[in-house]
Amino acid sequence: MSIALRSGYLMPLVGMGTWKVPKEDAADTIYNAIRVGYRLFDGACDYGNEKECGEGVARAIKDGLVKREDLFITSKLWNTFHAKEHVLPMVKKQLKDWGLEYFDLYLIHFPIALAYVDPSVRYPPEWAFDGKSEFKLQNTPFQETWQALEEVHKLGLARDIGFANVAGVLLCDVMRYAKVLPAILQIEHHPYLVQQPLVDLAKQFGLALTAYSSFGPASFIEIGWDKNTASLFKHPLIGGIAKAHGKTAAQVLLRWSTQQGIAVIPKSNFPNLITENLTHVDFNLTAEEIKAISGLDLGLRFNNPVAIDSRFGIFA
Ligand code: NAP
Repeated sequence: MSIALRSGYLMPLVGMGTWKVPKEDAADTIYNAIRVGYRLFDGACDYGNEKECGEGVARAIKDGLVKREDLFITSKLWNTFHAKEHVLPMVKKQLKDWGLEYFDLYLIHFPIALAYVDPSVRYPPEWAFDGKSEFKLQNTPFQETWQALEEVHKLGLARDIGFANVAGVLLCDVMRYAKVLPAILQIEHHPYLVQQPLVDLAKQFGLALTAYSSFGPASFIEIGWDKNTASLFKHPLIGGIAKAHGKTAAQVLLRWSTQQGIAVIPKSNFPNLITENLTHVDFNLTAEEIKAISGLDLGLRFNNPVAIDSRFGIFA
């Protein structure tokens, strides 16, 4: 199952995320995910494992499991590289890390420009300018970064371009000046953060959507950002629907997105869960079930680094 993007290229409806896939396991994890049928991988500079993920891809191609054109590889531009002179060198570096000649999709990770950090000094640079606590913004408007991505697209280094974590107001702005239109909006999306107006707006502008952190608080427990929120896996509504369909709670959460035409990129470090996530599309929720799950909306955002981390208090 796939979604047709603006370029005409198809993006698989289900892919695998790579945030917090440990470096030392990443090559094997990607290789095995390809072996069980994954074709889309969602990477980023900030995940610190692109080289290792690329090794998994290269091994799978070498072993004849897939060809490059069977895969859909996404990567993202980090906040410290928003100035126009840094975009192309970063794309080239990230392509080299992956061992690829082009990305299928390249996204601006956050609409937040941070002061440049030389990759030879610290890579990935993360949020703090000094690597500890200094939060330093940079005067690069989003338009400059978008136009630099358009150049990347024109050079054939990214077949489609887009962004993550962009709200409706900024999306409206980009649509005023974009010459290469954004193909994808990637957002935090789960029953506690439905963002229906943003989803509707993006679709109206012809963007496809990818949901991240589909399991809500689950991804954020290990980094202490889950706000002590009740697990969606144990929610009685999700559990009841899962039981009725003979599926797991995770599969119901993913199906809630994919049945609405929103792609998912769940991440797990465990082979059984990796397979469980990929194979979730062989059943359908009823319209009432989708509506009931959407009714759990709390407007609760977990991935809000600049508001959560007290070092970056200016955004709190
Ligand atoms: P997620 O896919 O919601 O996964 C959350 C946690 O659930 C994982 O830590 C995983 O732990 C566990 N899990 C996975 N499958 C499961 C299953 N079937 N049953 C029970 N537990 C399961 O979280 P995510 O990693 O935050 O989001 C997915 C991907 O989206 C990321 O990897 C990344 O590629 C992307 N992302 C993008 C942004 C952005 O700003 N653009 C932000 C966040 C994430 P185990 O590994 O222990 O199984």
